[in-house]
Amino acid sequence: MNNKIIEEALFTINQRGNKAEIEAVQNKAKALQDSTFSSLYSAYTRKMIEGAKNGKKEDLSAEKQAFEKRLDQLKIGSILPKYSCPICEDQGYKDGHMCNCLKNEINKILVRESGFGALEDFAKTKFDIFKNAEYMKKVYAKMQEWCHSKFDKNIVYLSGGTGVGKTHLIKCMANELIGRGKLVVLTSAFAMNQDFLKSYSTRDLEEKNNILDKYLDCEVLFIDDLGSEFIQKGITSSFLYQVLNERKIKNRPTVITSNLDLKDLRDYYDERISSRIIDKRTSICLLIDGDDLRLKNR
Ligand SMILES: [Zn+2]
Repeated sequence: MNNKIIEEALFTINQRGNKAEIEAVQNKAKALQDSTFSSLYSAYTRKMIEGAKNGKKEDLSAEKQAFEKRLDQLKIGSILPKYSCPICEDQGYKDGHMCNCLKNEINKILVRESGFGALEDFAKTKFDIFKNAEYMKKVYAKMQEWCHSKFDKNIVYLSGGTGVGKTHLIKCMANELIGRGKLVVLTSAFAMNQDFLKSYSTRDLEEKNNILDKYLDCEVLFIDDLGSEFIQKGITSSFLYQVLNERKIKNRPTVITSNLDLKDLRDYYDERISSRIIDKRTSICLLIDGDDLRLKNR
């Protein structure tokens, strides 16, 4: 994942932590001005220090309760930092792993940068806008179920004409996966192809790789409208293959929408790409047809 994005997200989270810590220090200073609190708090710290000297862990709950009760009466907030994320205490990482709060923050940036606008919600989808509501309900239910799967099927190919709700569906899926704490990148095939061309033409090796990082590293990649991009001979297909292949090897799911049916796909790109996508063992291919919605499950 692009370091700049991680840094920006981490900064937001650390800022929250700093704010919580400053508030706690300010609350404590305020509370100590009250003599009752001050003596209760002294009793608590004295006992704690004595315990440490004697090498035994004192039961401090009574003393703690007493000063907290006074704090309540004074209507002063906590003297301990109230972190937004109690799991990582607004550090962004816990035991060397990225915390979900950091992933959430990164997702916000990624969604903002994707230009897809606000995400959608499975629960709020109104099916009466579709020509074939019953079939669409099945498609949506199947995709929602997939979002909670272990991704044994790690390529999802949704094909169908324009205006059948493919983009709406993937925005619901992205939202659902973010809710599961997954790092998600949404891109149009057009924007991704622009990045392919950029990566191809730059001589700076580091930049070359950086451009592709987000497509390779995100936990779930959504490519909207595959086939709408301008195919640059020798570039588009080989980069697209690289992305699909690397993601498949690392078992990172990719969701693709396209106007191309499976036969067109083979003609439009090449055999390598179509066979990567149409692999019955590891892919789900759904055909969503606007007039006659046929749900074809391969
Ligand atoms: Zn956290």
